[in-house]
Amino acid sequence: GETILPVPQWLINEIRLAKQKKDPMMHHFVNGNLAKYGLNTVCQGARCPNRGSCYSRGTATFMILGDVCTRNCAFCAVDHGKPGELDQEEPVRLKEAVEVLGLKHVVVTSVTRDDLSDGGAEVFAKVIEALHSLPSPPTIEVLTPDLGGALSSLETVLEANPEVFSHNIETIPRLYPAIRHRASYRRSLDLLAEAAQRARAGTQVKTGFMLGLGEEKREVADLIQELSNVGVTMLTVGQYLAPSLQHYPVMRYVTVEEFEEWAALARKSGFKSVNAGPLVRSSYRAGDCYQEVMDS
Ligand code: SF4
Ligand code: SF4
Repeated sequence: GETILPVPQWLINEIRLAKQKKDPMMHHFVNGNLAKYGLNTVCQGARCPNRGSCYSRGTATFMILGDVCTRNCAFCAVDHGKPGELDQEEPVRLKEAVEVLGLKHVVVTSVTRDDLSDGGAEVFAKVIEALHSLPSPPTIEVLTPDLGGALSSLETVLEANPEVFSHNIETIPRLYPAIRHRASYRRSLDLLAEAAQRARAGTQVKTGFMLGLGEEKREVADLIQELSNVGVTMLTVGQYLAPSLQHYPVMRYVTVEEFEEWAALARKSGFKSVNAGPLVRSSYRAGDCYQEVMDS
């Protein structure tokens, strides 16, 4: 049978640390308001290990367009199936929650909605507009699904002028059939390339991928180069952690040193912001990463 790779002790310690509620009051405040405003987060949906540290810093990543995805990637803990009806009030509630939480940088992502003709682009645009209309508007990072590769949908999102347009490439091309069978590497890369071409001067294009899925080092180096070539300026790299025994198994635990090597390579390739480490997720300290680009 299959053997499960044991999680190294140093990583168990890091995860334990990340899960700690360093500021229990703030954690409670964030959790309470998410519930009060009826909002989903990818923090919960994806069972992210950083919830303790992110909520304690007063941040969370909103997941719009429902909590049921029309796809089922082999690495992902989000529920999949047939999504419910579109919630028209969601952008308004999200705006209210952001104001109450006092967020300065907001990350908004969504499930993939292959059932919607525009993939949910219109709702992303509504959310961006609603947040930009706040008295002290936060900077906004949208982390969109591939939108079926539709350029009109991409345009709808970009026209709303998010400060960061992000789409996760997740892995190297060879592993797409195994872990992301309903997606296509080409379509995701093209979406990033088009975003970089079409984005206003003020919009950064960002992506992220995971290590530990069975990729070779050569393939990772090629991926970094390709992402840089198409004009992506911000990158995150993290360790894949299997959400359950039913999910794709972890093939390798990457050391902190190796993450640092990839970060150095990415910076050399021209990325303005690189966040790489075992527990890095695309939304992890996203505000700091954006600030880093603004300061550069
Ligand atoms: Fe949420 Fe992102 Fe933090 Fe994870 S890293 S808890 S998904 S904000
Ligand atoms: Fe998860 Fe996104 Fe894949 Fe849906 S498309 S299963 S939300 S990774």
